[in-house]
Amino acid sequence: MEHAGSIKLTTFLTEKQIQEKVRSIGAALSDRFRGKDVVAVCVLKGSFMFYADLIREMDIDIACEFCGLSSYHGGLRSTGEVRLTLDLNSPVRDRHVILIEDIVDTGLTMNFLKAHVEARKPKSITTAALLLKPHALKVECPLDHVGFEIPNDFVVGYGLDYQGYYRNLPYVAQIQSIN
Ligand code: 5GP
Repeated sequence: MEHAGSIKLTTFLTEKQIQEKVRSIGAALSDRFRGKDVVAVCVLKGSFMFYADLIREMDIDIACEFCGLSSYHGGLRSTGEVRLTLDLNSPVRDRHVILIEDIVDTGLTMNFLKAHVEARKPKSITTAALLLKPHALKVECPLDHVGFEIPNDFVVGYGLDYQGYYRNLPYVAQIQSIN
């Protein structure tokens, strides 16, 4: 697929690979949180597709919450500066919170979010990220559920963008070249 005739993409994770992984993470989370008061947090924007698929693989009652964080500001590299663009709308005190992220790169965003939520005294915090770039981590960032560990290359699709585009791809792709 090409955008504006200048960018070439190669498929990195197929729709089927992603679906299978999402199903298994969903099953694990359902087993862990059945009968509990759970808030599943979607980290906008990139996580919207992973989140929508994951919560549909969870056959338990959950409350859905959304927050917005930005560190890439549309480009190819993290700016290293995390900004909260949308805060949670409901209290999480004494509730089990699941933070659902598309990708952990430097780890700064997830750590920022964890600290932000921790301050509100939830009963527990569980983290799930579809993708992890272990070699890009700049801070320690232990995660409870990781879909795929990937190389330190920029990826798009399945919610992830490049300059606002490609979020709607149902698979994850690498940018092969930008002319
Ligand atoms: P971190 O704070 O861990 O460096 O970055 C997390 C955020 O950076 C992700 O939520 C995502 O928005 C963005 N990001 C990190 N790596 C990539 C990537 O390879 N592609 C895209 N499109 N965004 C990325």
